[in-house]
Amino acid sequence: MAEKSIIQIGMIGFGNVGQGVYRLLEKNRSLIEAKVGAQMRIKKIVVRDLAKQREVSVPEGMLTTNFDDVVSDPEIDVVLELMGGYEPARTYLLDAMRRGKQIVTANKAVLSVHWDEIIQTARDHKVDIYFEAAVCGGIPVIQAINDGLAANNITSIYGIVNGTTNFILQKMTEEKKSFKEALQMAQKKGLAEADPTLDINGMDAAHKLAILASLAFSKRVKVEDIYVEGIDRITVQDIEFAKEEFGRVVKLFAIAEVEGDELEVRVHPTLIPEDHLLAKVDGEYNGVLVTGDFVGTTMYYGLGAGSKPTASAVMSDLIYVGRSVHDNVAGEISNCWFLNDNPQIKRLKKMGDIKSRYYLKFTVLDQVGVLSAISRILGENQISIASVIQKEQKKGDKVPVVIVTYEALEKNVQEALKKINGLPFVQEETLLIRMDRGE
Ligand code: NAP
Repeated sequence: MAEKSIIQIGMIGFGNVGQGVYRLLEKNRSLIEAKVGAQMRIKKIVVRDLAKQREVSVPEGMLTTNFDDVVSDPEIDVVLELMGGYEPARTYLLDAMRRGKQIVTANKAVLSVHWDEIIQTARDHKVDIYFEAAVCGGIPVIQAINDGLAANNITSIYGIVNGTTNFILQKMTEEKKSFKEALQMAQKKGLAEADPTLDINGMDAAHKLAILASLAFSKRVKVEDIYVEGIDRITVQDIEFAKEEFGRVVKLFAIAEVEGDELEVRVHPTLIPEDHLLAKVDGEYNGVLVTGDFVGTTMYYGLGAGSKPTASAVMSDLIYVGRSVHDNVAGEISNCWFLNDNPQIKRLKKMGDIKSRYYLKFTVLDQVGVLSAISRILGENQISIASVIQKEQKKGDKVPVVIVTYEALEKNVQEALKKINGLPFVQEETLLIRMDRGE
């Protein structure tokens, strides 16, 4: 079959990322087309609202509200799904693949939840599906895991994969802003959505971890398999204690790690040493450490979101797919193989069975016997204390008492906290922050 000289593209979504992709293609067109070996032509763009004011203007007639204009057009080779969300994105993706369209998507939500169905459909219909922008925006971490490190038994992934929470934690650390103030700053800067729930509660990071871990460990990890905690209970006081007393900083960590024949997958705030490789990943930047049995530890760093970095990742996928279309080999080689479970990983570890050191902040009445009662319950649950901090407060006030433990079993810690939280002098639910390995 003759090589294709024009690659026709249909886009779904023309928001932050879609407009970034359009701009990038306009700016670097000659370079991109030289790499593909063909012209790259955006033919149609599906949006919700034709009347909306946009920063990027396109030729008349290019925008449509009808998905059929893209999917029923036999000339369109590649569909870029840049609308986000679960539905109708899932339906559109499946429909496009069934009609033989190659796919590039940035949609972590739909991929992490409907992975099996989407990848199986790509295989059944022999189409390419690429999704570099779905995790960590501009950082090519999917390609690194999928291709560069493919020969390794990956042993761990430690990542800061959500820029919004990372920005908030930095503002709380450096400018002593409250969580609420820092969140407002993130919203003003356009980092956080009007509804930032999925960032704050850790679910956005969990979506990304589900994709990364599934690829890295050749084991399907579902979002609901991941233990998830957000950052909304962290206070400036905790950040200060951690820094002054223990030389640690708080980061929202996405963790996937093999222990024997089990895989741990979790997202939660984590206290890491100030000299940890990821401690300097600040603001809206993302950073990921991936360790493999032969390669050792590798690190990926860059902007995890934003129109331009995300467009860079989308366009790299598009160049790849464009080359396949040009050479008439699109869909011939699947880029995902993890549907076959990894025989070395027998199960996912239950959260109660993980081990960590713990930062525990008890908010208690300043009374005689408080510390001994807490210590007794911790001891009864096989939890050893490494250090205790109680800052001077005005008499009669409730006071924070911070205890850092040696490594303990999560279920023992949860059991102990249940009992301690029920004691009459405890004024607030105890705050727990894990001080993880990953060092
Ligand atoms: P966005 O600015 O909200 O844009 C979404 C676009 O999709 C809009 O053009 C919207 O049309 C269109 N759209 C939404 N629902 C639609 C529907 N039912 N029918 C037709 N069109 C519809 O979103 P974004 O920030 O560009 O994100 C797009 C994707 O990239 C998401 O999956 C997101 O998770 C992913 N991503 C984003 C970033 C980032 O930094 N923004 C980073 C990594 C990955 P209207 O314009 O007419 O409203």
